[in-house]
Amino acid sequence: MEGMELALLEELYRGVERQGPGDDALTRTALHFVGPMSPEARIADIGCGTGAQTMVLASELAGRIVAFDMLPGFLEVLAGKIQRAGLEDQVKTLQGTMERLPFKDEELDLIWSEGAIYNIGFGRGINEWSRLLKPGGCLAVTEISWFTSVRPKAVEDYWNEQYSEMDTVAGKIKRIESSGLIPVAHFMLPSYCWRENYYLPLSIAEEAFLKKHKDNPLAVKLVDESRRERAFYDAYGEYYGYVFYVMRKGVGSMDERGPQ
Ligand code: SAH
Repeated sequence: MEGMELALLEELYRGVERQGPGDDALTRTALHFVGPMSPEARIADIGCGTGAQTMVLASELAGRIVAFDMLPGFLEVLAGKIQRAGLEDQVKTLQGTMERLPFKDEELDLIWSEGAIYNIGFGRGINEWSRLLKPGGCLAVTEISWFTSVRPKAVEDYWNEQYSEMDTVAGKIKRIESSGLIPVAHFMLPSYCWRENYYLPLSIAEEAFLKKHKDNPLAVKLVDESRRERAFYDAYGEYYGYVFYVMRKGVGSMDERGPQ
């Protein structure tokens, strides 16, 4: 997706509170497994969007937050929220792509990423991002996952086509273990995170968006795809969803590890 299509996506999604399924209370739940941070802690929120979870992180944690995303329109909305909350000293927005993150190895205490790691792929994401964590640092992401080992073919085919790394929760945990990270906690996001918090406001925004862009085939396609995704969730939402995965980088020396 590029150019005009990306500009339309930015216009549609910047008007909604969330660009993916989630809930403030569940961001806090995941944070409980991370624990408190010192004011010197360095935190990155990757693929922050308009920053629903960034604002929760800022209210719950001491520590300085870099909210990172590729779309300037989303960061502009978030910058407004930061300013209204008087948090300019604690939270900075930064535009760029997650393929080339501007952080050094072992620089960060916490990396957060809700509904965004699939853009780089879960495996690549946790491998690359874990290098940026200090020993003992945490990585918390939400990632779409299968909830059952057997699925109806229609939903299986749809998601396998959308995302090559679709896997069960057990498969994702295995991936975490093989990356060397410790799988501290995981829990599934309930359906209200999709329906009430994400799809409902989005479907309202789409109405106005379609009125404005009714002659633009790219805009119509964007909304069609979103409605198709929603129809799959309505029909098959018990077979898949987002899962919060909280991981920690060990402090132990790799030289001390025993036989594999
Ligand atoms: N965390 C937010 C947004 C999730 S949507 C929320 O949960 O509401 C995914 C976000 O990732 C979008 O804001 C999108 O602009 C961003 N994104 C997608 N690909 C990216 C990339 N390659 N680099 C950086 N950000 C990216």
